[in-house]
Amino acid sequence: MNKLKNKVAIITGANSGIGLATAKLYLQEGAKVVLAGRRKEALEKVAETLEGDFITVVADVSIPDNNSNLIKVATDTYGKIDILFLNAGIAPVIPITDITETHYDEIFNINVKGPILATKEALPHINDGGTILFTSSIVNQKGFDGLGVYSASKGALRSFARVLTSEVKSRGIRVNSIAPGPIDTPIYGKMGLPQDVIEEMGKGFAGQVPLGRFGTSEEIAKTALFLASDDASYINGIELEVDGGLSQI
Ligand code: NAP
Repeated sequence: MNKLKNKVAIITGANSGIGLATAKLYLQEGAKVVLAGRRKEALEKVAETLEGDFITVVADVSIPDNNSNLIKVATDTYGKIDILFLNAGIAPVIPITDITETHYDEIFNINVKGPILATKEALPHINDGGTILFTSSIVNQKGFDGLGVYSASKGALRSFARVLTSEVKSRGIRVNSIAPGPIDTPIYGKMGLPQDVIEEMGKGFAGQVPLGRFGTSEEIAKTALFLASDDASYINGIELEVDGGLSQI
């Protein structure tokens, strides 16, 4: 129950899906949690459901000033940071023939620029021995139609994490990425696809997973707890697939 007692954690994309499940679990494990999200009303709604020592901060990760403000509010409230979980992301689906600059910029600004700038802002405030986690994806390893720019963004994040692992080694900061497979979260409703197409796509994904089903946000949250805790004290620089085996076959 106290794996993260008195640790200070920042989680982006914390009003929904994986981020919210992780915030709940971190709070249960005694952490002080800064839940960041881009929509004030969504944060207010989830705040009503949470128990423990937490604050919410409105921050659009694609806007540089929002990242610096997030880190400032977090450190003004709780002091130094122990866990930085850069999880916010979007996954709009577009075939390569229809990609536009706007589509590209939106995905890269949120999925790549956001976590990179948040890392830079946070680093001076992260305790030595702290940990940084990214949510990447198994799309780094497999090609799914319509996810070209999204896959490229997660590949970029993975590469960034490798360099970061090396650059922070003198401070004992561990850097790891979680690569979810298909996880049942609201992200599928935000892909810009009709409901019947989403349902067909879902069946297709589940059919390819050796365990035959979608994962849950709670299963990713347990992974985020493991990687952030002392249980993973010698795990550094990895990308851990949590995908029912999809990327392994
Ligand atoms: P989700 O429920 O939609 O959560 C994504 C979170 O990111 C939401 O809180 C969303 O806010 C937030 N977000 C999006 N753009 C943002 C921005 N500009 N600034 C701040 N926050 C922003 O989906 P999820 O599945 O939990 O996604 C979490 C992460 O897992 C993402 O990085 C995603 O790429 C990754 N992932 C998911 C799956 C999957 O199958 N679900 C698989 C592999 C990887 P709003 O609520 O306002 O949209």
